Amino acid sequence: MRCERNKRQIRAMARGEIVGSLKIRQHVRKCLRCQAEMSRERRIQRQLQALRSDVPVPGGLVNRILDVVDTLDRTPAIARRRRSKFAGMCVVALALLVGIGSRSGRRRAAQAS
Ligand SMILES: [Zn+2]
Repeated sequence: MRCERNKRQIRAMARGEIVGSLKIRQHVRKCLRCQAEMSRERRIQRQLQALRSDVPVPGGLVNRILDVVDTLDRTPAIARRRRSKFAGMCVVALALLVGIGSRSGRRRAAQAS
């Protein structure tokens, strides 16, 4: 059995998306490489979960951030330096949230099917 070819399935198994075929489950039991791949994926998932509970995503948060950026744009020039730093932080936070959101969305879709 080619481990590389099973990588996707093994990762999905580690995420709990699929049970996996008997052939692959039997292989993983004997194959250290695939076991390592599984535990690596589980570790990544755990870190993502921890990140998600650290960064809650309430509804309308994106709009609120955009509102704040909008408000800051109308404040005096003194705040300009702080503003650009804040805007940069918002972009990073948004990228993070969008990334996590799309990932968990995909997982939900996979479970539904
Ligand atoms: Zn293997």
